[in-house]
Amino acid sequence: MPQPYSVRESKRAKYVSLRISSVGRLEVVVPLGFDRATIPRIVAKKQSWIDRVQQKLAQHPTQQDQGLSGPFPNRLELAALGQTWQVEYCPTQSLDVAPSVYPQQHLRLLGAVDNWFLCQTELKHWLVSQAKRQLIPRLEALSQETGLSYAGVSVRSPKTRWGSCSATHSINLNSKLLFLSPELVRYVLIHELCHTVHFNHSREFWSLVGNFEPHYLDLRQALRAGHHQVPHWME
Ligand SMILES: [Zn+2]
Repeated sequence: MPQPYSVRESKRAKYVSLRISSVGRLEVVVPLGFDRATIPRIVAKKQSWIDRVQQKLAQHPTQQDQGLSGPFPNRLELAALGQTWQVEYCPTQSLDVAPSVYPQQHLRLLGAVDNWFLCQTELKHWLVSQAKRQLIPRLEALSQETGLSYAGVSVRSPKTRWGSCSATHSINLNSKLLFLSPELVRYVLIHELCHTVHFNHSREFWSLVGNFEPHYLDLRQALRAGHHQVPHWME
């Protein structure tokens, strides 16, 4: 059976080189404009070296697992939406990674999926787009319900804050809210909406929060542990 591999063109490469990832995938790095028709012959010549490295990797299954489930998540538990997404990694010859959504909450990353940095960047972008689509309508609904209006809303992925509200009533939501329960998300949205009236954490502010969410003290406490719900690779 011919050895499966992906090809990457590199501006800096002067020669052809072979690389095997920690999960045993073979990548052939070639200089720009290299004649790809000669690649199968080059790979065939190196077959015994490839076999040796891949065998070694197979003998160390823990190393292999780390490659796949260590940073590379196989699923995303989006508690805020009550959804579990399966994540699949599909290597192609592309130099980039692009997400693609399939039915029944399947997210596929296609491209240079051996590169964790590229996968991580794409997963984060995808989560921001999901948060925009799902959380902004919730904020809008709560704004109607409470009668508290805001000037604008954006979604990002800051390290610490779940949400913030500017002096000009612009609300910023953290995409990591997707990993929290709907109750906690609701509390954060109400909290930020109340800042459009009280730009501080005064007694008046908390009393306004309490009007809309009587259990705010418990929720505030629970939110402190919320970061445990967020996967490490999101940090
Ligand atoms: Zn606050």
